[in-house]
Amino acid sequence: MVSDLAGFLTTCRTALGAAHVVTDPDVTDAQATDWTGRWRGSTPAVLRPGSTDEVRTVVHAARRHHIALVAQGGNTGLVGGSVPHAGEVIVDLRRFDELGPVDAPAAQVTVGAGATLAAVADHAAAHGLTVGVDLAARDTATIGGMVATNAGGLHVLRHGSMRAQVVGLEAVLGTGDAVTANLAGLVKDNTGYDLPGLLCGSEGTLGIVTRVRLRLVPRPAARVVGLLGLPTVTEAVAALPVLRSLDSLQAVELILDSGTQLVAGHLGLPVPLDPLPGCLLLVELGGAGDLLGELGSALELLGQAVTDSAVADDDAGMARLWRWREAHSEAAAALGLVHKADVTVPLSDMPAFVAAVPARVQAVAPGATTLLYGHLGDGNLHVNVVGPAADDDSALDAVFQLVVDLGGSVSAEHGIGVAKRHWLERQRGSAAVDAMGAIKAALDPDGILNPGVLLP
Ligand SMILES: Cc1cc2nc3c(=O)[nH]c(=O)nc-3n(C[C@H](O)[C@H](O)[C@H](O)COP(=O)(O)OP(=O)(O)OC[C@H]3O[C@@H](n4cnc5c(N)ncnc54)[C@H](O)[C@@H]3O)c2cc1C
Repeated sequence: MVSDLAGFLTTCRTALGAAHVVTDPDVTDAQATDWTGRWRGSTPAVLRPGSTDEVRTVVHAARRHHIALVAQGGNTGLVGGSVPHAGEVIVDLRRFDELGPVDAPAAQVTVGAGATLAAVADHAAAHGLTVGVDLAARDTATIGGMVATNAGGLHVLRHGSMRAQVVGLEAVLGTGDAVTANLAGLVKDNTGYDLPGLLCGSEGTLGIVTRVRLRLVPRPAARVVGLLGLPTVTEAVAALPVLRSLDSLQAVELILDSGTQLVAGHLGLPVPLDPLPGCLLLVELGGAGDLLGELGSALELLGQAVTDSAVADDDAGMARLWRWREAHSEAAAALGLVHKADVTVPLSDMPAFVAAVPARVQAVAPGATTLLYGHLGDGNLHVNVVGPAADDDSALDAVFQLVVDLGGSVSAEHGIGVAKRHWLERQRGSAAVDAMGAIKAALDPDGILNPGVLLP
């Protein structure tokens, strides 16, 4: 089929206004490259629709003129799903930034897909509420992108991932039809297939999300952050039952001595605990009770397993401690091009996994730097490898093979994107992938939405 880009863009200019059909290469090139810099595509245009009807017009025109589209929010995705790899046109959702009134009795809010996580959290804060998912890209990542990737983040052990926050949504499917599902925010609605659940984690391959009805959670009245030093990951995993027994637990994050030293060098700071233990757990408590007392009791129960600790309950001090965890991504990026894996393995295998990964990487990528950190409370680790060329998958493939051998998942929260498409069938099996293909064919019959993403 011959695509008609000129005809498509003419229709878009009429529907969106010429100002919202951007072909300036300075803009289009920037949006065709992902946050990591590993994935660089190209696009003839970035479209900036401002209403659901405009998105419908764009999708109908794309079908008619045989044009492929890539939905994009904040472009902070880490698996190459948000950039055009084969000249697709970008549909930038950031004009969908409206914040509806907070429905305090229901603890819900309806927001545009282009609203950033930080904007929604600030909006909800006035009502003593917040979003159950939080992540370091909060100032840029959009709610639509977070739904599309089923984002996880720092508080999954408390509130679940993005799918658990989505009560309803509106989306334009690949057919061009707009569907709304439970934007009224009904707590109970057993009327057929769960379309919001299906679109969560669909990575822009089934529909373009335009509005989302979000569940909100109580914003903790106070918080306490502790950085606990432990000799090894074995002790860190063994500490989880005690930490999980804390009523106010919000987050348990793992960092290692090697990553802490890298971050210290990157930020120009002395290491937070001296001597630096083999591993550190960043623990956050939130609530209205005696949080310092609760953390103190946990430290007593953990006894000598915790060799040293730093605790903060003021905003600046807590931000300083969180920085040791959140600066890992940027410290890795400062070393060069980063290959990112985001995996889960059974917690009982976590110590062996952490010990084995650097050697597996060295075996196929001698001299590479491997950085491990992540959401230990969820059994989820981020593996960052710096060294291999952008198109060299060998290091991550070695990590993924180990993950699959251990019965884990090659994507805990970032999604499949283009980075892990060749692992989907090995992970999920051919019957599941065939079922996904059938769903894709039904909702995007011409295959115009993110054609190179997710499905093999
Ligand atoms: C520093 C940093 C820290 C991060 N930490 C975490 C973390 O802790 N946990 C985690 O899960 N992720 C994390 N991420 C990854 C990223 O922030 C999430 O994947 C986020 O959900 C992406 O949102 P976005 O708006 O940037 O989406 P984009 O990057 O623009 O898009 C991501 C995918 O969603 C699709 N998409 C975007 N918007 C829409 C829409 N409206 N409708 C349909 N499809 C759409 C895109 O096509 C693409 O496939 C981190 C990223 C960075 C840079």
